[in-house]
Amino acid sequence: MPASENIPVIAQAYVSDRAKKTLDLVEEFVEKECIPADTLFEKQLGTGEARWTAHPPILEELKAKARKLGLWNLFLPRNHYREGAGFTNLEYGLMAEYLGKSRVAPEATNCAAPDTGNMEVLARYGNEAQKRQWLTPLLEGTIRSAFLMTEPNVGSSDATNIQLSIKREGNQYVLNGQKWWSSGAGDPRCKLYLVMGKTDPTNPDPYRQQSVILVPSDTPGITVHRMLSVYGYDDAPHGHGHISFHNVRVPVENLVLGEGRGFEIIQGRLGPGRIHHAMRTIGAAERAIEWLIARINDDRKRTFGQPLSAHGVILEWLARSRMEIDAARLVVLNAAIKIDQGDARAALKEIAEAKVLVPQTALTVIDRAIQAYGAAGVCQDTPLANLWAQIRTLRIADGPDEVHLQQLAKRENRARRAEVIAKLEAQRKKAESLLVANGFSVPKSHL
Ligand SMILES: Cc1cc2nc3c(=O)[nH]c(=O)nc-3n(C[C@H](O)[C@H](O)[C@H](O)COP(=O)(O)OP(=O)(O)OC[C@H]3O[C@@H](n4cnc5c(N)ncnc54)[C@H](O)[C@@H]3O)c2cc1C
Repeated sequence: MPASENIPVIAQAYVSDRAKKTLDLVEEFVEKECIPADTLFEKQLGTGEARWTAHPPILEELKAKARKLGLWNLFLPRNHYREGAGFTNLEYGLMAEYLGKSRVAPEATNCAAPDTGNMEVLARYGNEAQKRQWLTPLLEGTIRSAFLMTEPNVGSSDATNIQLSIKREGNQYVLNGQKWWSSGAGDPRCKLYLVMGKTDPTNPDPYRQQSVILVPSDTPGITVHRMLSVYGYDDAPHGHGHISFHNVRVPVENLVLGEGRGFEIIQGRLGPGRIHHAMRTIGAAERAIEWLIARINDDRKRTFGQPLSAHGVILEWLARSRMEIDAARLVVLNAAIKIDQGDARAALKEIAEAKVLVPQTALTVIDRAIQAYGAAGVCQDTPLANLWAQIRTLRIADGPDEVHLQQLAKRENRARRAEVIAKLEAQRKKAESLLVANGFSVPKSHL
C-alpha cells in the first residue's frame, strides 16, 4: 500500500495532495534507492583514519536523484520559513518516518541533523549577511555544520551551566573553553560551528547570560581532540567531536540575534527538531518490525519443530510492537499538528510527550526484533544492533528524558492542581449530601 494511503485517519484532513504525492516519492526513494545504498555507503567510507576524510560518492549520486525528484529541504515548515519545500510539520513528519529507515536518506534529501536545526536557526534568527554566507550553502547541501552546546566539565542538561567564555574585545569576540558531543564535527565538509557560550556570566538572570555565535570550523585556536564513540560505533564521517577553543577570534558580526539571546535560540531550535527525531525513530521501529516479520517466517530457522511465527509469545511481540508504534506515531503527529496550528512554544507539552515516549517505545520494539534473531540480532548481519544504539542516544541527546518528564509534570501540576482539587472537593460534598438526603450515614474516610 502506498504511504499516502497509510496516513493515520486523524491526520488525513491536514495533508495536502502535493504532500501525499511527495510522501509516496519519499517512500519509493528510501525503499528502492537509499536502503540498498546503506551498505555501499559504509564500504565507501573505508576503514581506520580514512573514515574521517572520505566522502562516499554514493551520497552525491543520491543527492542528485533526490533533487531531481523534488525531495530536498523538506523539513523547513511553510508557515515559518520561505526557504524550504513548503510542507507543514505534519506533512514533513510523515515523510521523516521513511527517512528514518535508512542511514543515508536524511542527508541525501538535505534533511539531516544537526544541519536541519542549524538551518532553522539561521533562517529564523540570522541576519541577511549570515544567511548569505552560511544558510545558502547549507540549503544547497555543499557544506555541513555542527551545534556546540554540551561541555565535558558541567552537567549540560541544565544549559545554564554552560561555561565557554565569549568575551568582546574591540570588534571581535574571543572564545575560550571546551565542548564535546559536537555531532557532525568529524565530517571534512563541516565548515560551521554554532557555538553557545556565556557573554555575560554575571547577569543576575541565568537565562540571559548565554549567546550563540557562528564560528568557521577552520578558525585558528580550535582543536578537535577526538571523536567519541556511541556504543562502539564511530558514526563516521559525521562523528561526535571533543573540541577546545583557545583564544578563538571571530568578528562581532558573527553573533546571532544579539547578546543574551542564546536560550531563546536553543529553545526555538530544539522544538521542531525533536519532532523530526521522533518521526525518524518511528521509521526505525517500522524497519525493526519488518526484520522481525522476516525472521519469524524464516522456515530454514525453525525451533522445536516450528517457525517462530507459530510460537504464541513471538506473535504477541509482533502484536504489541504494532500497537505500540501505531500509538506512538499518533503522539508525534499530534505534536506536529499542534506546532502547525501555533508554534513550538504552544506545543511544549506535546513535543515533550513525543520526545520521551517515542524512543522508549522504539527501543522496546527493536529489542524484540533483536531477540527474535538470537545471536544474529546483536551482530552486523542485521541493521538492528546499530538502530538500537542510535535510538538509545535519543533518551539523552536533546536533553535527558528525566528533564523533559520533570518539566512536563511541573506544567501539568501547575495547570491542573487548583481545578482538580476544587472539583474533587465539590464531588465529595455532593456525594455526602446525596447520602444524607437518602437516609444513609457518611462513611468515614481518612482523606
Ligand atoms: C549521540 C549524541 C549526540 C549529541 N549531539 C550533540 C550535539 O550535536 N551538540 C551538543 O551540544 N550536544 C550533543 N549531545 C549532548 C547532549 O545534548 C547531552 O548529553 C545532554 O544534554 C545531557 O547532558 P550531559 O551529558 O552533560 O548529562 P548531565 O547533565 O550530566 O546529566 C546526567 C544525567 O542526570 C540525570 N538528570 C539530569 N537532570 C535531571 C533532573 N532534572 N531530574 C532527574 N535526573 C536528571 C539524567 O538521567 C541525565 O542523563 C549529544 C549526545 C549524544 C549522546
